[in-house]
Amino acid sequence: MTVRSAPAADVPTPEQVRAELAAWVRECWDPDRPLRDWRELLLGAGWAVPSWPRRWYGRDLPGWADELVATELIRLGAVGIPVGSGSWLAAPTILAHGPDELRERLLRPILTGAQTWCQLFSEPGAGSDLAGLSTTAVLDGESWVVSGQKVWNTSAHHADMAMLLARTDSSVPKHQGITYFALPMNQPGVEVRPLRQMNFHASFNEVFLTEARVPRENVVGAVGLGWAAALTTLSYERRFAALQRPGYSLTPGRALAEARAEADRHFATYSWYPQRAGRPDLVVEHARAAGVSTDPVIRQAIARLVTLHRVSQWTADRARLARAMGARPGAEGSIGKLAASNVARESARVHAMIAGAAGLLTGPDSALGGVIAEVLMSVPGQSIAGGTDEIQKNILAERVLGLPGEIRVDRDVPFSQLTGRG
Ligand SMILES: Cc1cc2nc3c(=O)[nH]c(=O)nc-3n(C[C@H](O)[C@H](O)[C@H](O)COP(=O)(O)OP(=O)(O)OC[C@H]3O[C@@H](n4cnc5c(N)ncnc54)[C@H](O)[C@@H]3O)c2cc1C
Repeated sequence: MTVRSAPAADVPTPEQVRAELAAWVRECWDPDRPLRDWRELLLGAGWAVPSWPRRWYGRDLPGWADELVATELIRLGAVGIPVGSGSWLAAPTILAHGPDELRERLLRPILTGAQTWCQLFSEPGAGSDLAGLSTTAVLDGESWVVSGQKVWNTSAHHADMAMLLARTDSSVPKHQGITYFALPMNQPGVEVRPLRQMNFHASFNEVFLTEARVPRENVVGAVGLGWAAALTTLSYERRFAALQRPGYSLTPGRALAEARAEADRHFATYSWYPQRAGRPDLVVEHARAAGVSTDPVIRQAIARLVTLHRVSQWTADRARLARAMGARPGAEGSIGKLAASNVARESARVHAMIAGAAGLLTGPDSALGGVIAEVLMSVPGQSIAGGTDEIQKNILAERVLGLPGEIRVDRDVPFSQLTGRG
């Protein structure tokens, strides 16, 4: 399943990687080069994703090299691969599951930013129970014909491609009949309808698929083995629960201007995500502004929150270090995601204590210019996106603590018998 090769015995140190990268950037970086041309150079030199194999735009370096190189490129005033679910979710899944023809065709446009991606997994009847999905794909000559409905699909309104899960065989148990496709979004059979959220944003969508076409060869992994590829995507999703905007330098130049515009486009969808995380960074400022920073009950609540936040950051640091040492994404993703939910909820509670009823007001005159109202309305999303808190607890209970599994009566029954559909 994996195409990662073992790092060479003579693995360079982080200092050596830094020095080699800096020399290469000095030689090759031209701020007036078009962004895509610069990224082609990154791919060619193996600096795009340095932990990947040389054949696929990497350098066979250990896992720590990806974060180090991404950070160093920005520090040197240059640009790395694009942000977004293409490079964070689709690319590692395609790399891990192949086949080579798809790696050849799809990885390059993801890593240069020529194509953006979204994730078409959830359905109205299949969220936590994702394997219960009922969108179907039927082979018709040289293409698969896909019909069904997806929902909560972030950024589907401006994606070129989608990671799509669809059922290709109903005669086998539900996890076995699923295939993972790379679906072209811009076609008549794909209708994207934005959903308006209670925090006034519209970052996700309903997607209606009516005989949408997927080229026959756009199967990630193999027909009927989509569940394994889906688990790879989900493990990366938990790992990247917190999205960070790259801090590109303000130096003029075409490549940087294009990278900033690309990040602006991408993060417009996610502008409420910091509020979704609860904004624990704002509690002290909020308490002072509201004149309650000497209230002993509020002070105690703030101290508790700051402690929780600090401990969760240490947990995240430990997970980052484990990845840097070459560990594949694992249980620490679920622990980190659960910790982030706890921090967000506690932070919203403390902000609500500070603001009182005024926290319900929105607009520029309300608490911290409306940020607090947005926090209170956005925090519930933290416990749902990328797998709910309860699902993370199930994963930890079963895979880490070794507790008895949930009773799953539908695991071995053909999907068609569960649904009465053929
Ligand atoms: C901000 C955001 C962005 C999202 N982006 C995307 C996206 O880009 N693409 C995509 O495909 N989806 C996306 N989703 C959807 C997300 O993956 C689902 O909402 C999530 O998996 C939960 O599914 P559900 O909403 O159907 O809830 P349900 O699965 O119906 O769950 C309802 C409740 O039941 C609980 N529950 C369910 N099963 C169990 C169980 N076995 N044990 C204990 N409790 C259980 C849940 O924890 C929850 O509290 C996004 C969601 C959010 C909030």
